[in-house]
Amino acid sequence: MAMGEKSNRTMNVLIVGVGGQGVIMVSKVLAQLCQADGHDVKQSEVHGMAKRGGGVFSHVRFGPKVWSPTIPEGEVDILVALEWAEGLRWLRHLKPDTGTFIADCQKIVPPFACLSRKRGAEPAYAPQAPEEIIEQVHAGYVMDATTMAANLGNAKAANTVLLGALSTALDFPEDAWLDVISATVPEKSVEINRKAFAEGRAWAGAAPKRIDVTPDGLHKAHVEVHHPEVETVVEIVADWCKGCDICVKICPERCLRLNGQLKAELALPDLCTGCQLCAWLCPDLAITVTNTPVADTPATTKAATEPAE
Ligand code: SF4
Ligand code: SF4
Repeated sequence: MAMGEKSNRTMNVLIVGVGGQGVIMVSKVLAQLCQADGHDVKQSEVHGMAKRGGGVFSHVRFGPKVWSPTIPEGEVDILVALEWAEGLRWLRHLKPDTGTFIADCQKIVPPFACLSRKRGAEPAYAPQAPEEIIEQVHAGYVMDATTMAANLGNAKAANTVLLGALSTALDFPEDAWLDVISATVPEKSVEINRKAFAEGRAWAGAAPKRIDVTPDGLHKAHVEVHHPEVETVVEIVADWCKGCDICVKICPERCLRLNGQLKAELALPDLCTGCQLCAWLCPDLAITVTNTPVADTPATTKAATEPAE
């Protein structure tokens, strides 16, 4: 992605995702950066049912003088999507000839999309592949930001990986981004957020269009779950579980429970269909569900309550 030129016109950036992903943090960092650089900035956001996994979006507009906080449809210069289907939902707002689309391939499937309770059943979720979408936009980046952040030590820093990618499309110095990020995130997570930013910036800086969905990424896992014969492994990181009970309540098969330490555990593994609802809806990313075609790996369904290596 080439560095953007400093322009005298209003720049429109739309950030979208679902509750808990850090849409507002991305928006806040960008707005503060623009303000510090002397731009007039307008920011607006809608949280809706964010705490229940609902959509969240934020408009950031900056330039010499901005009159309205809302970006008209078809006028978005850069669309940043922290969740794949949310990105597709807002795609028509992107400028058709010059817009840049930056998305995490992470899929957070709403409960009503899981229509079948059969093992390996396909949820009703946006079917478009990243390749199709990239073809439709001027510049497009589909990355596995969540896995990249997880590999750095905390999947929650995926929003900062996307900030790094966004930084390559705007004309602000890298140090200015890092200063604002460091001042915005909690002190204990400054280090990982700086690394996450560098990772996203390096990744997006390599090419004008790029798709990179790693083998362990959530997009790939979603594809694998369509296999009719799968073995399922549910991993729950006890240290990350805060005992909110969401996964227990949302599991269609009622196979999860909270143990005596108020940590989620897979109590009835034989009933688990691998639907991934618990993993998608855990606000603390404490659950991973892996579905592997039986023919490839003759493993048995099991629960793992220790942190993944
Ligand atoms: S695993 Fe996640 S959703 Fe389940 S109780 Fe723990 S924090 Fe809540
Ligand atoms: S434990 Fe998770 S993956 Fe298994 S059936 Fe329940 S919600 Fe679905």
